[in-house]
Formats: sequence, C-alpha cells, structure tokens
Amino acid sequence: MPIYEYVCQECGTRFEALRPMKDADVAITCKKCHGSNTQRALSLFNATSGGQTLAASGGCGNCAGGSCSSCGHH
Ligand SMILES: [Zn+2]
Repeated sequence: MPIYEYVCQECGTRFEALRPMKDADVAITCKKCHGSNTQRALSLFNATSGGQTLAASGGCGNCAGGSCSSCGHH
C-alpha cells in the first residue's frame, strides 16, 4: 500500500498515511486537530518511483552519475 502525504489547511500539519490507491484523494482527518480540511500533498515516493532510470541509463550500475573507471562508461 502506498504512503500518501497530506497537509492540513487548518493547522498546517503535514502527515503521512498508508492508504489504498483508490482512496488516495478521499478526505482524511488531520491527525493533530482532527479537522477535515486536508489536502493531499505531492508524494516524494510517487515522484521517484517512475522507473528504473539508473539501470536504463547504461553502464555497470555504479556509474549513473557520470563516467566510471570500472566499466568505461562515460
Ligand atoms: Zn490540522
């Protein structure tokens, strides 16, 4: 189950919740003030899970950031 991050519009608290994907945008109660005026924040988890970009970039797997002396990747 993915973790989603929410921001409370009432008290500004950011909190995370494990929720089924289908309930990601369903209203959730703030864990601090128990208000219902919350909004889903962009999740870092979703932003970085788009694909295996390191493996797709080529090289030996240790040289995604640039050249690598162990495999000659530039
Ligand atoms: Zn709150």
